[in-house]
Amino acid sequence: MEEANSSNVGTESKPQTIYRCKKCRRIVAAEENVVLHERGQGEKCFRWKKRSSIFLKGTDTEPPECSSIFVEPMKWMQAVEEGTIGEKLQCIGCKARLGSFNWVGMQCNCGAWVNPAFQLHKSRIDECHIYLTAEQDSTPN
Ligand SMILES: [Zn+2]
Ligand SMILES: [Zn+2]
Repeated sequence: MEEANSSNVGTESKPQTIYRCKKCRRIVAAEENVVLHERGQGEKCFRWKKRSSIFLKGTDTEPPECSSIFVEPMKWMQAVEEGTIGEKLQCIGCKARLGSFNWVGMQCNCGAWVNPAFQLHKSRIDECHIYLTAEQDSTPN
């Protein structure tokens, strides 16, 4: 179903997803920074690693839910600024480890390769939905 012309209202205030450090609530990424990747083949890619579990559970397993997100290089990623190839990503606020990056690429748990990879673990960040209000809404009468 395509309803391109449904309404002009509300386009400015659709929720945006932001990601915060779970510890100090600092915003570490926004929806627009997220680099999406195609789901990999799951088990297939990891077959060499998990051969035994395939025999136990059968082969037609769906790719697992990605346990992390991949983003663009961000300002707070100090190690990136220093020109390192691969390093941990620490929250600039509380120094909690949020993930890691690698310019050469990393493999998501779903099996997909992301290159370059700036990975944030979902377990270390909070996903929040905020409403970006249009200018006319910012000063209530
Ligand atoms: Zn993935
Ligand atoms: Zn933090």
